[in-house]
Amino acid sequence: MADVSPAQGNRVLCYCDDCQAFARHLGTEGMMDARGGTEIYQVFPAQIRLTAGAEQLRLLRLSEKGLLRWYTACCRSPVGNMLSSPRSPFVGLFRGVLAVEDDALEAAIGPIVGRIQGRFAVGGCPPGVHPRAPVGLLWRSLVFLGRGFFTGKYAPSPFFDAATGSPVREAQVLTRQERAVLVPGS
Ligand SMILES: [Zn+2]
Repeated sequence: MADVSPAQGNRVLCYCDDCQAFARHLGTEGMMDARGGTEIYQVFPAQIRLTAGAEQLRLLRLSEKGLLRWYTACCRSPVGNMLSSPRSPFVGLFRGVLAVEDDALEAAIGPIVGRIQGRFAVGGCPPGVHPRAPVGLLWRSLVFLGRGFFTGKYAPSPFFDAATGSPVREAQVLTRQERAVLVPGS
């Protein structure tokens, strides 16, 4: 990944039902914490280079209009999620793809700036987690997205075909029933 710094991305811990559904669908060990939280690092697509294994990328959507959720076919590792537009200026990378220890990660990209969507957490909203998303973080994200959009940081993207503007994979879309099984009570 290029140009990594605390100012270049948003590191968040998300407890939302969609992130939990994605983690359960993949069944990958260690993706969520005990309460269902997933750590995500939002960066611009142009910061990402897939140096190997691009053919292993697979695409899942939890619903017809859901986010694009990328993972690998080989070990079902979550890679990142993003909006479906080729001009979407962010990718939320999952903690697991950042192959560094916590200390090094903290030094490189800074601390977690938001713990959000606690109302979906397993066993109720954990202490220190916002039940939804605080306005400050939404604003920070908007500024970040705007900067990415207006400076063209959505391209080049390893997730979209530059010629056609389509995702590089056909998405598997879950049915309502398939998703409902993954998030009991939602
Ligand atoms: Zn989420």
